[in-house]
Amino acid sequence: MPKRATSEAKVSITMADIFGPGGMLEKCHPGYEFRRAQLEMAEMVDEAFQKHQHTLIEAGTGTGKTLAYLIPAIRSGRRVVISTATKSLQEQLFQKDIPFLRKHFAPDLKVALMKGRNNFVCRQKVHLMANQPVLRGMDEIDWFAQIRDWEKLTETGDRAELDFLPDDAELWNRIDARKDACTGQKCLQFQQCFLTAMRQRAQEADLIIVNHHLFFADLALRQDDFGSILPEYAAVIFDEAHEIEDVASDYFGRAISSYKFDELSRDAEQTLRMVNAGTAATRRPLAQIRERAHAFFEAFPEREGRFPFEPAERAAFLERNREPYDGLAAALKRLETELSALSSKPEEVLNIARRAAELRRELAFLLESQERGYVYWFERRGKGVYLVATPIDVSEILRERLFEQFDTIVLTSATLAVGGRFDYVKQRLGISGSREEVLPQEFDYRSQALLYIPKALPDVRHANFAARAAEEIAQLLHLTRGRAFCLFTSYAQMREVHERLAGMIPYPLLLQGTAPRSALLDRFRATPGAVLLATASFWQGVDVPGSQLSCVIIDRLPFAVPSDPIVAARVRALQEDGQNPFAEYQVPKAVLSLKQGFGRLIRSRNDRGVLAILDNRIQRMQYGRIFLESLPEYTVTQDLAEVARFAQEL
Ligand code: SF4
Repeated sequence: MPKRATSEAKVSITMADIFGPGGMLEKCHPGYEFRRAQLEMAEMVDEAFQKHQHTLIEAGTGTGKTLAYLIPAIRSGRRVVISTATKSLQEQLFQKDIPFLRKHFAPDLKVALMKGRNNFVCRQKVHLMANQPVLRGMDEIDWFAQIRDWEKLTETGDRAELDFLPDDAELWNRIDARKDACTGQKCLQFQQCFLTAMRQRAQEADLIIVNHHLFFADLALRQDDFGSILPEYAAVIFDEAHEIEDVASDYFGRAISSYKFDELSRDAEQTLRMVNAGTAATRRPLAQIRERAHAFFEAFPEREGRFPFEPAERAAFLERNREPYDGLAAALKRLETELSALSSKPEEVLNIARRAAELRRELAFLLESQERGYVYWFERRGKGVYLVATPIDVSEILRERLFEQFDTIVLTSATLAVGGRFDYVKQRLGISGSREEVLPQEFDYRSQALLYIPKALPDVRHANFAARAAEEIAQLLHLTRGRAFCLFTSYAQMREVHERLAGMIPYPLLLQGTAPRSALLDRFRATPGAVLLATASFWQGVDVPGSQLSCVIIDRLPFAVPSDPIVAARVRALQEDGQNPFAEYQVPKAVLSLKQGFGRLIRSRNDRGVLAILDNRIQRMQYGRIFLESLPEYTVTQDLAEVARFAQEL
């Protein structure tokens, strides 16, 4: 099925010829099994391209989604952007599916894999640093020497090639190609820059593989056409599309963190030293920026978490902290002034002055703007303080900049529909006039999974709930011989249940936060009978096929925390609009999260296991029906003896 085939050839080959029984895929792939849902999906995507139509497809695990969208995308002959949720999904497409398609279907297919700027080394920074090393400690000296050699040989400049460099190496932050310090076309290395090369590859590509972060970072920049990274494209396919509201909200919002001020002073110091432009007058404001930023961010409450920072709260804050705020703004201004007074101003120096001006503007916006449509909030996390303005509703922005700009956008995920309908996701993302479909499940959930809802537990809000939940979990773990994920909606609940379980079960307990996520998952896979206790970050994107994961227990229906500033603002906005936020926002959002969480269990046709939800509101409350109707057709029981029988065969 060559790309850009003649129109007769295009018409003559149907998706059934490729995906159907005895079709081309079956012939070229010995392990290939015909899947009705995959064929249906390929036909829908193909039609989306032919009719220039937005299309939403809910396709469960095991459908074979990637080929079902890649083949029609190639056949369309248009330049298509494929956006996935994570870098590892991008790599998987690029390294597994694309070579297969090239080999069997489209030998001339040109594909570009694009990642965010900070994945690449900046040649100019390496060059400047080599002349004026600003390195700390023996490790940095050693790493930098290796990076210099590598930078001369690598074709991509992608950090993923540097297996000796630890994930948290601070050196990388000083030499990566982030936008902050980039002088673009004025840079002496622009022609040899790895980003320029990546852009050129994308210019020539038929398919461009990105992740949602890069896609929305680009879409947000496209407005002023400065710094955008993607070339022109004709259509977009979003895989794991349930994540795009959150990612778009981040990139269409505005934010600064306490780290930005330290980075500015550090980069300025380094740049001035490297271009021999440092004077006492330019160094003074740098020290002031550091000190005053410290004093300013110290003024925020010490408690970790996210808190509203709406106009009234900001005014009160400023009344108490006017001095450090004005002092910080003045130090930034002074740096701009001192830099512009320098007799020689290389581009790097001008760039520092621009960054100082931008930080000053952002600071003023986040503290003083009255612009409606944003929710203003701050967060203290670890050593950092973040000030953020997030759009309350991204649907209008996405409608204008995405769904009205392109005529073919395909969204797919295992969790898009609520009660079989797409109203929620369409409303949140500003989609209208689309075609949508929930595809039949590939797995026999009725026989592969048993959903247990205990009868006798107290309401999740009852003080005794954690103690009783821990007992129930222990009983279930005995039946499934460990091998479970226990997923919680809060850290506090996770920690309390962990403490209680410690003396009750003989299985190794792994706790989120005690090691990096990937290390915990590796340990879970390698430890017989392991039980992992975790919160939100393990609810999605985690894949443990086979019997090592035979049970997923969820403590409560995953409603978003109502006090979270973004959730609270969205609820308020819907109320003001005369809508019912509980029915139209909170319940559907929680339904999709629950589907994601339970989706961890059955990853293949051979997987079997027990699911449990300890929150009996799913049966007591009227809205519980929507949760149950939205889940795959698991067999449901309230009888622990039935779980025991089922678990014997696991
Ligand atoms: S163009 Fe920007 S990222 Fe590329 S080498 Fe120059 S400064 Fe670095």
